[in-house]
Amino acid sequence: MMNLSERMKKLNPYVPGEQPQDRQYLKLNTNENPYPPSPQVKELLETLDADRLRLYPDPLAIKLREKIGERYGLTKEQVFVSNGSDEGLSFCFYAFFDSLNGKLLFPEVTYSFYPVYCDYYGIAYEKIPLAGDLTISVEEFVQRKDSCGVVFANPNAPTGTYLPLKDIRYLLENYPQEKPVLIDEAYIDFGGESAVSLLRDHQNLLLVRTFSKSMSLAGVRLGFVLAGKELIDALATVKDSFNSYPVSTLTQKIGEIALSEESYYRSINSKIVSVRESFSSALGKLGWTVLPSKANFVFARKEGVPGKEIYLKLKERGILVRHFDGVKVRDFVRITIGTQEDMERLLGEMRSLF
Ligand code: PMP
Repeated sequence: MMNLSERMKKLNPYVPGEQPQDRQYLKLNTNENPYPPSPQVKELLETLDADRLRLYPDPLAIKLREKIGERYGLTKEQVFVSNGSDEGLSFCFYAFFDSLNGKLLFPEVTYSFYPVYCDYYGIAYEKIPLAGDLTISVEEFVQRKDSCGVVFANPNAPTGTYLPLKDIRYLLENYPQEKPVLIDEAYIDFGGESAVSLLRDHQNLLLVRTFSKSMSLAGVRLGFVLAGKELIDALATVKDSFNSYPVSTLTQKIGEIALSEESYYRSINSKIVSVRESFSSALGKLGWTVLPSKANFVFARKEGVPGKEIYLKLKERGILVRHFDGVKVRDFVRITIGTQEDMERLLGEMRSLF
């Protein structure tokens, strides 16, 4: 037996959605965008000068951070980039949350990576109950001022429910100003309003974003964090204590180019939103309960059929959706919104199976 660290033995890793290699599935399980990246991204890859890869990437990713800043009316000092938003989240947990300052708060149902990071970094946490309709209730966070910070996804995952900006403003105005509030906006481009306008007045606010969903670039691994300079500088310190170059030359370049094609992305994402709405109402007519979603997925259940069974039966028919085995969520499946044709095929199978 090899010597392994006690630290490592205690880890309880996040399990990502399946990426099966054995057969062709209709993949509606990991919230990937069904449309390809923008045309100039393809062009870049076709005309790439491989010689550039001889050199290390810009460790500060200056150009990319400037471009992201421009998009959101911020300076590059307010932007941090990471290898996927998972890495940005992980660095935030390391940099900002410390049990010495109290427990970290997050909703009882949210992105299941948060407790994994807490265990990894030894951060004590408390899960805050959701309201009866599975939405986040900010009052519960405000009441716990002895905590070390707050994190949640908006729209939330895997529920898809959305917290309006006025609730976030209320949270920021009533929660201690020196304690970081981290909002994971991975799915904000599918109909929600970003809290970016609140950054100016709230130095404890951090927004985590990704190129994986609305920019169709899950494979390149690019995420970013928007916040005030003090918090961004702390993230840079964490990153430089771990890996000088987490964002490759290619990834930086692809990110810059994708940002210049805003209208392409706006058009594919508005298609996803309209398919989401028509799919949700069709599913409702088949007797399913569908939570109102502002993400590129819906969380749905059918009375009397366990979520696991829905997942397994659809898998047999070549369609992957995601099932989570938590108390409040096990009756549901999370279904990524694909193209109109994808959702028609799924509806056909659902009609005949359930
Ligand atoms: N946040 C949430 C809420 C997510 O669902 C995901 C995707 N699993 C991520 C962050 C991470 O996305 P990525 O690392 O691809 O940017």
